[in-house]
Amino acid sequence: MPQKQYDEFQQAAIEAPTPALIVAGPGSGKTSTLIGRAEYLIDTLGIPPENILALTFSRKAAEEMQERLGRVLDVHTVLPTVSTFHAFCAELLRTYGSLVGLRQDFAFVDDAEGYFLLLRQATELPLRHYQNLNTPTYYFPALLSGISRAKDELVTPAEYKRLALCMLERTSNEEEIQKAERALEIADIYALYQAALERQGDTDFGGLIMLAVQLLQEHPEVRRELHQKYLHILVDEFQDINRASGVLLRELAGDARRVWVVGDANQAIYGFRGASPANIANFRDDYPDAVVLPLSRNYRSRPDIVKFADVFRREHLEYLEPDSVQGTVQTARTTVEDAYVTLAVAPDEASELNGLISDMRRKRAGGYHFRDIVVLCRTRAQARKITQGLVDADLPVIERGGLLEQEHIKNLLSIIMLLAEPSGMGILRAARQSDHLFTQSDIEALLQAAREQRVSPMTLILRDEAPLTMSIDGGRSLRRLSMILKALHLAQNVWSLLADYLFIETSLVRELLASDEDTQAQAVLDDYAGLLQLARYYDQQQQALRFQKEQEDFARGEDGVPIGLPTIQEQTRGFLDYLSVLLTLRHDGGKRQEEGSDEETPDVIRVMTVHASKGLEFPVVYLPGIVKQRFPMQRRGNPVEPPTGMLPAESEGDAAHETDEACLFYVGATRARDHLVLSYAERYGKKNYKRSAYVDALVAGLPEERITSVAWQDNQAGGRAGLVPARSPSPTRPFSSAWFEPVSSQPSERFVEAMKPRTLTISALETYQRCPRQYMYSTIYGFHGEDAAYRLFWKATQDTLEALTHTLEASKGVGDGDAQSPTQEETRALYTHYWTELGGHTVPFAALYERHGHEVTELIRRRLLASGDISWQLRQSFTVDIAGRTIEVSVDRVETPAQDGEPVKFVRTRFGKRKEKPTATARELLYARASRQHHPGRNIELLFHNMSTGESFQIKLTEKKEQGLYNELEQAILGLENNEFPPKPDVFVCPSCPFFLICPA
Ligand code: SF4
Repeated sequence: MPQKQYDEFQQAAIEAPTPALIVAGPGSGKTSTLIGRAEYLIDTLGIPPENILALTFSRKAAEEMQERLGRVLDVHTVLPTVSTFHAFCAELLRTYGSLVGLRQDFAFVDDAEGYFLLLRQATELPLRHYQNLNTPTYYFPALLSGISRAKDELVTPAEYKRLALCMLERTSNEEEIQKAERALEIADIYALYQAALERQGDTDFGGLIMLAVQLLQEHPEVRRELHQKYLHILVDEFQDINRASGVLLRELAGDARRVWVVGDANQAIYGFRGASPANIANFRDDYPDAVVLPLSRNYRSRPDIVKFADVFRREHLEYLEPDSVQGTVQTARTTVEDAYVTLAVAPDEASELNGLISDMRRKRAGGYHFRDIVVLCRTRAQARKITQGLVDADLPVIERGGLLEQEHIKNLLSIIMLLAEPSGMGILRAARQSDHLFTQSDIEALLQAAREQRVSPMTLILRDEAPLTMSIDGGRSLRRLSMILKALHLAQNVWSLLADYLFIETSLVRELLASDEDTQAQAVLDDYAGLLQLARYYDQQQQALRFQKEQEDFARGEDGVPIGLPTIQEQTRGFLDYLSVLLTLRHDGGKRQEEGSDEETPDVIRVMTVHASKGLEFPVVYLPGIVKQRFPMQRRGNPVEPPTGMLPAESEGDAAHETDEACLFYVGATRARDHLVLSYAERYGKKNYKRSAYVDALVAGLPEERITSVAWQDNQAGGRAGLVPARSPSPTRPFSSAWFEPVSSQPSERFVEAMKPRTLTISALETYQRCPRQYMYSTIYGFHGEDAAYRLFWKATQDTLEALTHTLEASKGVGDGDAQSPTQEETRALYTHYWTELGGHTVPFAALYERHGHEVTELIRRRLLASGDISWQLRQSFTVDIAGRTIEVSVDRVETPAQDGEPVKFVRTRFGKRKEKPTATARELLYARASRQHHPGRNIELLFHNMSTGESFQIKLTEKKEQGLYNELEQAILGLENNEFPPKPDVFVCPSCPFFLICPA
């Protein structure tokens, strides 16, 4: 093999004395340089390959490094050890794990299993600040990520608690007290979680490195052995280092400190397991005499792209680089005459999408393959929308998003939903599978008949009772679906259920295999395999849990009767819960996100998030949506903030967020080899946007003639891509389009009229305002998720409150109030009575609800006793006329004082701790209108009463605010009357929406 030529930067880096930090720019050949370094060590310095350890962070990078080392060092029989940090630690702990408390065959607990581990400890978890009554597991993903973050910083539960207590000692106001209390709560949860892991003798991802560090620090003999074995350590992608892996590296290197690392601080994206530019800077603290050298020649991108990225880096990121060592980046590629950096502006989102499509077609006509093209998006929601637009335009596309967000996977899961959930929401997607196709009017006939007969839609399906209003084809499909579901009822587990459905009961896989020319068919097959893998994993986990439970029972001296298999309904419900955990944790990617671009890749356009593009490169890169608030995105609060002192100051807060966003943009722009197209629209939805400041670097960095500035007007693609309603799969359309289309589910006017409630209520309008599509699913279709436990809690609290109110009112009547007042014990007993009567003691998190029920009712008892001669009317109904319509509003509580001069209070009550102060909403508007209509001339106050904390806030409604709320309500009423149910997707809200798996948004 010919000797590879290195440039002067690379050569200097290869021969650098250690410790050495090589600061690499994008496309500067850092992995090649690392390979060159290994060659230099072996061939020039005579270091045996087995004495070299090369570490990196992703499995893909490790595989690539291994393969390249194998090629250049083919004369050597032994190769250096190449591994990821985590795999290296796992290997080490397989040998020495017992020294740090691991069992011999310890298991690796991933985040999803960590979630179930927390769930199993539900009764012990001290949830107060992190208590969500609607969804008690709501904060679990955030708690797990807080624990993982602590491990990235080598912070144990005890240390976490110490930091939290220090915070509490130094508090000077309520906000700081709350913060410290939250940190203390996490410390206690962390301790419980860690104790459970230790009892099992297992470890989680963060624990791998933490335990390896502990092993090396506590066992000098192991450390010595490793020092003798690994004389030189090389690290690639050093920007992804976190504190824990930095300390591990120091322990591995020992006093010899023969460490050579290469990375690009500008590509350090926070959130990648604690990666932060601050950690690169730590290298200088750990090794003050380290040599710092740049790799400053870009071999990837054409000169204008390099220049733009460099100007951006200097403006937004240069302070991240140690000693600003990189200087001006040089370019290795020659330029071409035509401009290849494009800045496009469109009036709105649809025009931007159409512009993208036209430009892609031009690039294709100009000789590029589809696989050369990538669209990089800031969020998954944006990626989904763009994918949809490309599908509608019949362009071949694969969205490199999560497996569970794919339309065909959601369609497949519909069969599981039908079995798991009787309200029948799975039918909307099951209707699209070619083996049991239903038209929209067939679906409506089924749902309407179920409502009229007061049975669940699933009952009708299983009984094969097609309503008379269903079409003949629909009736046939119903029979087919009924037979399939009955057969699937016999499945032993989720994997066999899915496999039966895919391979035996339907022709889904057969159809895909028949379209072997179609690259997207292969993608769908891969995704089906991915889902089967998840099902297999879930089944195995459940089996292991049952076995563990049997062992525990046996150890406790119980008779050890084998635990039977749960019913298939229970298993499918559990599987859907598991998938929703993966979605919330954003761990549903499977293999999807690791694939890159090469000759073997199918000839399809890729759409992915910028995060997922790290380490990849493409000839043509589109970066759409570059406007303020979207890129950079606004910072969202972190529910689990680390305790003060856990992280370096520069890794927290607004400045860290801004750096992270700038790093992301830099990563995105530097993926481009030949063409970079930045675009933005002046309006997204109904909101106007301004161009992002990131674009300014483009304008400042390149002469005008080197930028193609274009205005993308509407209809460039010859259609309204992305806005057309979805079509049904049709044999005349290309396979690719039909399979990737979303479900429309727009109900007919007749159906809406038949199903919609006869009265207009504020609760319905609130749901509509939150998300019109959610209103459609819940109120028009009548689908519902599981929120049974919270409803029981709410009902038990209401019943107790009513009983207390009656007792006190009665006691006033006999003029011996105090003597008749219920005591704290009586109130507790009353709550427990209602709670048990409703069956609350049997639900998950029963202890949490009952404990909180006691707290809430005691607060209410005290408030009632203190209310004197004020009379309380609970859930009083009013009607309010707004915009010519009558709306029903049930006021949570009206407090009427005996004296006329005192204000009547209209009180809105809610449960749960909230950080933000309450503000006026549509409900307050209606309360205000109701109070004026029904208590004319009386002095009125609007109050918000948090029953969980006992706090009350007066709500002020200015004339301007009232008008604004009125306008919004009027809009919502109009939308409802026009049967408009557009989705209102929100990247943080949708994954926990009960309709996520049926919603195409
Ligand atoms: S998934 Fe999102 S867009 Fe769809 S109904 Fe739920 S909240 Fe609305």
